[in-house]
Amino acid sequence: LLVPDKVTIGYIEGDGIGPDITKTTINVINAALEVAYGGKRSIEWHKVLAGDEAYDKTGNRLPDSSLEELKKCVVSIKGPLTTPIGEGFRSLNVTLRQYLDLYANIRPVRYFPGVPSPVLHPEYMNMVVFRENTEDLYAGIEWRYDSEDAEKVRAFLSSTFNINLTPDTGIGIKPISKFKSTRLVRKAIQYAIANGRKSVTLVHKGNIMKYTEGAFRDWGYEVARTEFGDYTVTEAEYLKDPEKYANKIVIKDRITDNMFQQVLTRTQEYDVIATPNLNGDYLSDALAAQVGGIGLAPGANIGDHYAVFEAVHGTAPKYAGLDVANPTSLILSAEMMLDHIGWKEASKILDDAIMQTYRDQKLTQDIARLLNLKALKCSEFGEEIINRMKPIK
Ligand code: NAD
Repeated sequence: LLVPDKVTIGYIEGDGIGPDITKTTINVINAALEVAYGGKRSIEWHKVLAGDEAYDKTGNRLPDSSLEELKKCVVSIKGPLTTPIGEGFRSLNVTLRQYLDLYANIRPVRYFPGVPSPVLHPEYMNMVVFRENTEDLYAGIEWRYDSEDAEKVRAFLSSTFNINLTPDTGIGIKPISKFKSTRLVRKAIQYAIANGRKSVTLVHKGNIMKYTEGAFRDWGYEVARTEFGDYTVTEAEYLKDPEKYANKIVIKDRITDNMFQQVLTRTQEYDVIATPNLNGDYLSDALAAQVGGIGLAPGANIGDHYAVFEAVHGTAPKYAGLDVANPTSLILSAEMMLDHIGWKEASKILDDAIMQTYRDQKLTQDIARLLNLKALKCSEFGEEIINRMKPIK
């Protein structure tokens, strides 16, 4: 990305804890830029309306004007947005990802020093999940059991597959395409190459869902072979002669349910993961739980043109407005954003400061309570990070 020294970044505050963690994140990022560049590079933060606040002001939770502003900004960060469950309400997050074609949801999960974990060796955890973001069961193609269309779809499916879909059956469709699978796996392999990673694991349930998840696996291997043949090797080839292929990225695949237990029992064998939407959603939350929970898990939604960086967690409504939520997830997401625009010095300064804050056991209540320590407020935690920022020598 070619980025000017003064760049405009869009931000959506979000609902619930969103405003608290966004405020702290912006303060922390501004401080990191000041330490890294002494005023030579800076961000102009452009507020974009969405969620409850947009609804109160415009009657729409995600006005068209906001979508246009996100496009104009190119790169944005966002706090979590409420998705009421049930009738007539498409998730704003899904709408946004589809509108900007943010097809790769990237979720790094790694160990934080001093943060309690339910697993024996949390220090092995260092994975990056590439979750397909625009199709699969999240495409929103569903029929309520009692709708007229559901009746037609049931009739078609019942005759085609010789099964009896009873009138109390709702239907959802799982589209998985070659184009969208391929571009996701391509991004994962490119990331693995650029960051010196060892393997890319394709996670799928292809033994059951052959033409969707099974196809994802096949297309994944195909893109590795045809576009990255000089850089990659399949696991089968690698195991025949590990020394010969020591410098190659190993492409392997695992069935989803097996993968859930493998990441617990053989954590160090996994690195970059590429997977369809639903698997990726479940897996990345489960991975985050191994290293302190979703309050610590960052995320990026990236396409070929736009990028929106956001926390993995939701709005945590019970903590709304109390200034007690853990802002780490959003701060780390913003750190990914600094990397994305090439401002690596600031991201390094920020990362070192965050890790030092954890090592010093300066913690928000989600982690502090596990250790019976006094908790810091969200904003105080941000100040502790800022106090630990040191220029790179
Ligand atoms: P949640 O992530 O909001 O909360 C799950 C649990 O984690 C709760 O106990 C919560 O208090 C805790 N938690 C989450 N983030 C935390 C933080 N930063 N610090 C401390 N504790 C934290 O998930 P939920 O309760 O299932 O969802 C609440 C709302 O958020 C729903 O409307 C949902 O649709 C929405 N949501 C939005 C996004 C998004 O905008 N990307 C993602 C997930 C959920």
